[in-house]
Amino acid sequence: MAIADISVGIRTVHHWIGGRLVTSQSGRTGVVWNPATGQPQAKVDFASAGEVDHAVAVAKHAFADWRATPLSRRSEVMFKLRELVDANRRRIAEMLTSEHGKTLPDAMGEVARGLENIEFACGIPNLLKGGFSEQASRGIDVYQIRQPLGVVAGITPFNFPAMVPMWMFPSAIACGNTFILKPSEKDPSVSLYIAELLKQAGVPDGVFNVVQGDRVAVDRLLEHRDVKAVSFVGSTPVARSIYETATRNGKRVQALGGAKNHMLVLPDADVPMAADAAISAAYGSAGERCMAISVVVAVGAVADPLVAALRERMAKIKIGPGMDEGNEMGPLITREHRDRVASYVAAAASEGATVAVDGREHPAHPAGFFLGPSLLDQVEPGMRCYRDEIFGPVLGVVRVDTYDQALRIINENPYGNGVAIFTRDGGAARQFQFDVEAGMVGINVPIPVPVAYYSFGGWKASLFGDLHIYGPEGVQFYTRTKVVTSRWPDPGTSKVDLGFPQVR
Ligand code: NAD
Repeated sequence: MAIADISVGIRTVHHWIGGRLVTSQSGRTGVVWNPATGQPQAKVDFASAGEVDHAVAVAKHAFADWRATPLSRRSEVMFKLRELVDANRRRIAEMLTSEHGKTLPDAMGEVARGLENIEFACGIPNLLKGGFSEQASRGIDVYQIRQPLGVVAGITPFNFPAMVPMWMFPSAIACGNTFILKPSEKDPSVSLYIAELLKQAGVPDGVFNVVQGDRVAVDRLLEHRDVKAVSFVGSTPVARSIYETATRNGKRVQALGGAKNHMLVLPDADVPMAADAAISAAYGSAGERCMAISVVVAVGAVADPLVAALRERMAKIKIGPGMDEGNEMGPLITREHRDRVASYVAAAASEGATVAVDGREHPAHPAGFFLGPSLLDQVEPGMRCYRDEIFGPVLGVVRVDTYDQALRIINENPYGNGVAIFTRDGGAARQFQFDVEAGMVGINVPIPVPVAYYSFGGWKASLFGDLHIYGPEGVQFYTRTKVVTSRWPDPGTSKVDLGFPQVR
C-alpha cells in the first residue's frame, strides 16, 4: 500500500521540541501499522536535518539552566515522574501493544522494567557524589567532581519503545544533560506521551526533546558538533556504523547491537523447568527481544526429553492480538519482518536442520503479521538459521556431547549479549559464569536482564563502546569527571586574625 493511499484520515505522530508538539515541514513520513490487524493506524513525521538542528539548538539553550538546577530539584522531578509513569502504566502498555503488537501483560512488564530506571535516577544526589582526599600533599587537597556533558542523544529500536528510552533519559537528565530521543519509526507514539509526562513532572522545556524519523535524522545527530554523546540500541550492523561515525566525529558512544542468546542445558537439569524457561524466553514477545533465547544447546541425553517437553508446550501457546486477554504471543512488527523470519524456517531443512515444529502452519489471524512458534532441531553452527539473528519466534536446538563442546560453540559465536545455563550442579554453573564470553549470565534464569542498579550490556558484536547502559555505568557515561587540586593560604599567614590555630 502506498503512503499516499493511507494518509487520509489517520493521525500523524509529530516531533516534541521545546516542550511542545512540532509538526514536521520535511514532507516525508512513514507508516505506523497495527500489527494485529495488518492495517495502517498512523503516519509519523520524518525529520529533516534542519529540524534536527533546531532540536539541538533548543536543547543546547536549555542546558545552561538545567545543569545549574539543584540536585534536590532534579531528584524531586524524577520522583514526580515515577509517580506519573506508575499511575499511567496501563495507558502506556496499551500504546505499546497497539503499535508493537506484544501482549498487554508483556507490555506492562516493559513499563515496570523501564520504571526501575526512573527510580534509580531519583537517587541522583547520591550517584553524583565525588571523592575527596584531604592533605594529599602538605596543604594540598584533591577532589573529583562529575559534570554533565551537554546535549546527548538516544536512538532506540522498535522492540522496547518505552523501556529502552528509559534506559537512557532518566540518568542522562538527572545528571544535568539535555536529551534528544530519536525513537523507532515503527512504534513512535509512546515517545510523545513520555514527553508529556516529563513536562507534567516539572522537567523544563527543551530538556527532553523527540525528533521522529529515519536515517536522515540519525545521520544529522551523529555529525552535529553540539551533540556530545550518543546512546544507541538496535541491530549490530547499524550499531557498528553508528559507533564508527559518531566516534569519528568526536562523540562519546555506547552502541548496543543484536544478539544470539544461548541456553545451555546440562544433563542433570530439571527438564520441565528448563522447558518452561525456554518457551517463555524464546517465544515471549514473539521472539523480538534482544535477550530472547534463540538457541538451546543440549548436552548429552537431555536433548530428547527436552525437545519433547518443548513440543508439548509449544502446542499450547495461545496466539492472537495482544490486546485480547489470555493471548501469550502477539504478531511480529511488520509484514516484511514476519516474512523474513518465516524464510529461515523455510530454508532450515535444506540446510540440514530438522523442522520439529513449523510455525508457518499455525492457523493464525490472516490479516495481522502473525507467525506461529517454530522449533528447529539438529541445528549446527555454520547454518544460516544458527548464524543470523532471526529476531522472531524460532528456537534452534544444537545437540552436543560435552560441556566443553557447548562452551566452545557459545564462545565462538560472534554475539555475546545474554546467556543462560540450566543445571543442578553449582560447581558447573560457577565454572560457566567464569568461562563464558557474554555480558549477562543467567543461572537457571533464562533472561538475565540486570536490575537497574547494575548495568546492561553485552560483549563482542552485541556492544560497541566501553560502558554498558543504565545503572552506575550509565551515570559514568553521561558525566565527565574533573579533578581539582587545591591549596589555600595558611590561615596563620592571613593578615586578618581568624582565631584559628595554625593548620599543619
Ligand atoms: P534497527 O537497528 O533497525 O533500528 C534501531 C534504530 O536505528 C531505529 O531508531 C532506526 O530508525 C535507526 N536506524 C535503522 N537503520 C539505520 C541506518 N541505516 N542508519 C541510521 N539509523 C538507522 O533495529 P530494530 O529493528 O529497530 O530493533 C531490533 C534490533 O535491536 C535487534 O537486532 C535487537 O537485537 C536489537 N536490540 C538490542 C538491544 C540490546 O540491548 N543489545 C536491545 C533491544 C534491541
